[in-house]
Amino acid sequence: MRRLTHNIMKTLQGRLDLASINTATLGHREPLHVSVDRIARAGFGGIAPWRHEVEATDVKQIARQIRSHGLTVTGYCRSTYLPALTKAEFTANIESNKAALRDAAELGARCFVMVVGGVPPGSRDLDAARRQVGEGIAELLESARQLNVPLALEPLHPMYAANRSVLNTIAQALALCDVADPQQTGMLGIAIDIYHCWWDPSLHASIALAGEAGRILAYHVSDWLHNTTDLLLDRGMMGDGVVDLPNLRRRVECAGYDGMTEVEIFSSENWWRRDIDEVLIKCAERLETVC
Ligand code: ZN
Repeated sequence: MRRLTHNIMKTLQGRLDLASINTATLGHREPLHVSVDRIARAGFGGIAPWRHEVEATDVKQIARQIRSHGLTVTGYCRSTYLPALTKAEFTANIESNKAALRDAAELGARCFVMVVGGVPPGSRDLDAARRQVGEGIAELLESARQLNVPLALEPLHPMYAANRSVLNTIAQALALCDVADPQQTGMLGIAIDIYHCWWDPSLHASIALAGEAGRILAYHVSDWLHNTTDLLLDRGMMGDGVVDLPNLRRRVECAGYDGMTEVEIFSSENWWRRDIDEVLIKCAERLETVC
């Protein structure tokens, strides 16, 4: 089915209600309930919490608190890695993800973010890891449907193929979606994170195709610093790097994505060392001016 597309992107000027904060941006330095209050107080419309934060507390209580602030849960981070060396481990990974999906449902999350996992330690079989990812997604999709929480496959930059994700481009993610969910039910799609895909020569075409298939479930922003010093923990604040953020958001929204823009910055040496409210103020300012 061809989705409606439009040509104008939303303005974020004065519209922080259209933006969400992934709690990783704050460095996981405080309990989730404190972050929830802080993010709501700063005027953002959404939050994306992590499992270790939610699992450390009472999920129902956190869900109530989030709802009471009127915050949208733009995504629940993230899946247990799927590929495994043994059948027993693979099954355990599936079960762990099913448990997380139940929490995602409790939270009313718009999607469950799937970082699918790399090559299991001790293996050199990249193809097998990718096959397991396909099998795992097919199995989890059933639970996702029952719980009404869409699965958002997040392709990661290929530098993480060994240890975090054998899923590395939007095109590859869309191919998986087409196999597992050919009917385009809305329960399987992708999370587009500019940090991971900004370099992809096929990015613009892939965004258009993802939109046409109604598969864009989340949009994550940060920036790729020109001289990045750590491949995991040195993401830039929007506007500090090389990514043409307005161009990408326009493409994502024109492709039909109607959800929030989510800020997700891992930055152990910079932003995670700053005052948390200062970080939120900077995110707001950059969302309004350079995204
Ligand atoms: Zn992301």
